[in-house]
Amino acid sequence: MNIGILGLGLIGGSLGLDLRSQGHHVFGVSQRTSTCQQALDLGIVDDASVDLKQLAAAEVIFICTPLSLIVPKIVQLITYLSPDTVLTDVGSVKTPIVEAINPLWRNFVGGHPMAGTAESGINAAQRNLFVGNPYVLTPTQATPSSATMVVEKIVLKLGATIYHCRPEEHDRAVSWISHLPVMVSASLIAACMSETKPEVLELAQKLASSGFRDTSRVGGGNPELGVMMARYNRPALLASLQQYRHNLDDLIALIDQENWEGLESSFNSTQQARPNFMDES
Ligand code: NAP
Repeated sequence: MNIGILGLGLIGGSLGLDLRSQGHHVFGVSQRTSTCQQALDLGIVDDASVDLKQLAAAEVIFICTPLSLIVPKIVQLITYLSPDTVLTDVGSVKTPIVEAINPLWRNFVGGHPMAGTAESGINAAQRNLFVGNPYVLTPTQATPSSATMVVEKIVLKLGATIYHCRPEEHDRAVSWISHLPVMVSASLIAACMSETKPEVLELAQKLASSGFRDTSRVGGGNPELGVMMARYNRPALLASLQQYRHNLDDLIALIDQENWEGLESSFNSTQQARPNFMDES
């Protein structure tokens, strides 16, 4: 199959490696000439260019640019495509993208591979990134089933597990398990930084160990990603944050009232619930 990839970074590059190894012909387009050259050198694509026209020969195109560019790039790209071309994106928020693209392109299937690393760019691309990980597809009633099937077939061969849901459900779900944790973790670091006694703050920094490492990891990451989550998933994230504030208020009240039984019961219920969110448990 002729498959196009727009945006040759971590996700686009990893897709290219797997798709080429399965015998597909991969056309890659990226922003920088140097990235295109690297994609050729690393065996990520068969053909590479900075020109969107390059993708006209593809039957299916994966849009793997940063989230803010997905809609504007598709708007430019579709002027070069035949109407049969199937488009899919990998953006980590779905509602604004699906709402913008559905009226413009019939054969569009929203997608989100739940796979990644802390690295970005083409040098972070790796084989088998998607194996064993969920891959969400968000076709709507307007999406032709033929287009969904084409994308499903490719995704299954990547070794991913497909989940179907509505774009809004996807955005609510990722708000709980991905975007809210970033906000909570960032707030945790900010709260610690508000310690007014310098020697206590310094001591806390020295004593910080695995618990703090785990809970602060996602809040201490790339600021652009946090802003992107808030900007594109604003309604779902605000709802999650407000619920979280409510849960914090409950905890404060229990501790303030020295209601240790109530606190233990609250921790019992979170202890029981956690394995439902974790693969390994
Ligand atoms: P990334 O590593 O930064 O890759 C994005 C690539 O897009 C860059 O390497 C850049 O290539 C290219 N690009 C930027 N502007 C472009 C333009 N105007 N035209 C063409 N290409 C352009 O980012 P990523 O982590 O792969 O994320 C890409 C998408 O995947 C995002 O929409 C994100 O929401 C989604 N996603 C990410 C993860 C994750 O964990 N990282 C997981 C699931 C989904 P140049 O080198 O040419 O500038």
